[in-house]
Amino acid sequence: MFENLQRELEKLGRMKEISVPIESDSEGYIDKECPSEPCLFLFKIHDEDWSNIVRDEEVFCPSCGHMAPAKSWYPRAQVEAARDYALGTITNSMNKAMRADAAASKRLQNRNSFLSITLDVKGERDAVLVPVAAAEPMRLRTDCESCGCRYSYVGAAYFCPSCGANSASHTFTQTMNTIRTAAGLGEILRNTLGPDEAEVMIRTLLEKAVQDTVMSFQRLNEQLYERQSGKTARRNAFQNLDAGSDLWKAAIGHAYVDLVGLAKLDQLRIFFQQRHLLAHQQGIVDQDYIDRSGDKTYAKGQRLLIRDSAVREFADLIEELSYELTQKVGP
Ligand SMILES: [Zn+2]
Ligand SMILES: [Zn+2]
Repeated sequence: MFENLQRELEKLGRMKEISVPIESDSEGYIDKECPSEPCLFLFKIHDEDWSNIVRDEEVFCPSCGHMAPAKSWYPRAQVEAARDYALGTITNSMNKAMRADAAASKRLQNRNSFLSITLDVKGERDAVLVPVAAAEPMRLRTDCESCGCRYSYVGAAYFCPSCGANSASHTFTQTMNTIRTAAGLGEILRNTLGPDEAEVMIRTLLEKAVQDTVMSFQRLNEQLYERQSGKTARRNAFQNLDAGSDLWKAAIGHAYVDLVGLAKLDQLRIFFQQRHLLAHQQGIVDQDYIDRSGDKTYAKGQRLLIRDSAVREFADLIEELSYELTQKVGP
């Protein structure tokens, strides 16, 4: 009576793997996600380069530099969709398989109107769905100067996924421009989303822009410093203005204050301390912030309010300091 079922089960027992189709986007890029838990950075890599340039043994996260074998970079959302698809195949029931296919195509449709990007939310990194109309202008497409691998991302990222090279000076100006773009997305978001949702997302994007600005400056400094001194700076040294300035003073005889003057450096100090609050204190002002930044506009316990004009000012100042520094260090 259960012969057929028995046969099906035996067949299943012999089945080792099920192929799940992964489609590239209209430009030929496929989604990847950093497997490192605190990072989970989402990016895209050109399908051809993933097959021809990237090596199976090691792939690098463009954002945090984490290294893992090529098989570890499937986005979690894609793995989930694949599991549904595979389950649909296993049950061998037309209905279920069709349902899985319908779910997969629905997911693709959703992907077309919303784009999942990595954001720091409440001090934790998380993937957030942003309307494509808003996210696409922020996407930075680049190719590695060393190995030619084509990849793209939203936000701040500097390592080639294929060879791991730090490409900060190659992408720095572009990154600053996408940060300015992000600061100007308020209207699109208000038109696309409900008012409450839009305000939350605008705030998140502006806060992310502050963090991305510091990160892009950090990666640029790391690359310049390594090139200039032949040494690797202490991890995250360039996240701290004073520590970074001291390193340059020792290496080339110029501190940051010599490059942009005290007034601009004081303003930069405020932005750097704000990044610290956003990354570690959920943006809540503490006494440390007031003491270190000299910012008198907040009282202890208040939450930071990042305006788009501040994001633009921060980008301008960072670009000026980076330009002066690059002039001194040499190409
Ligand atoms: Zn990562
Ligand atoms: Zn490369």
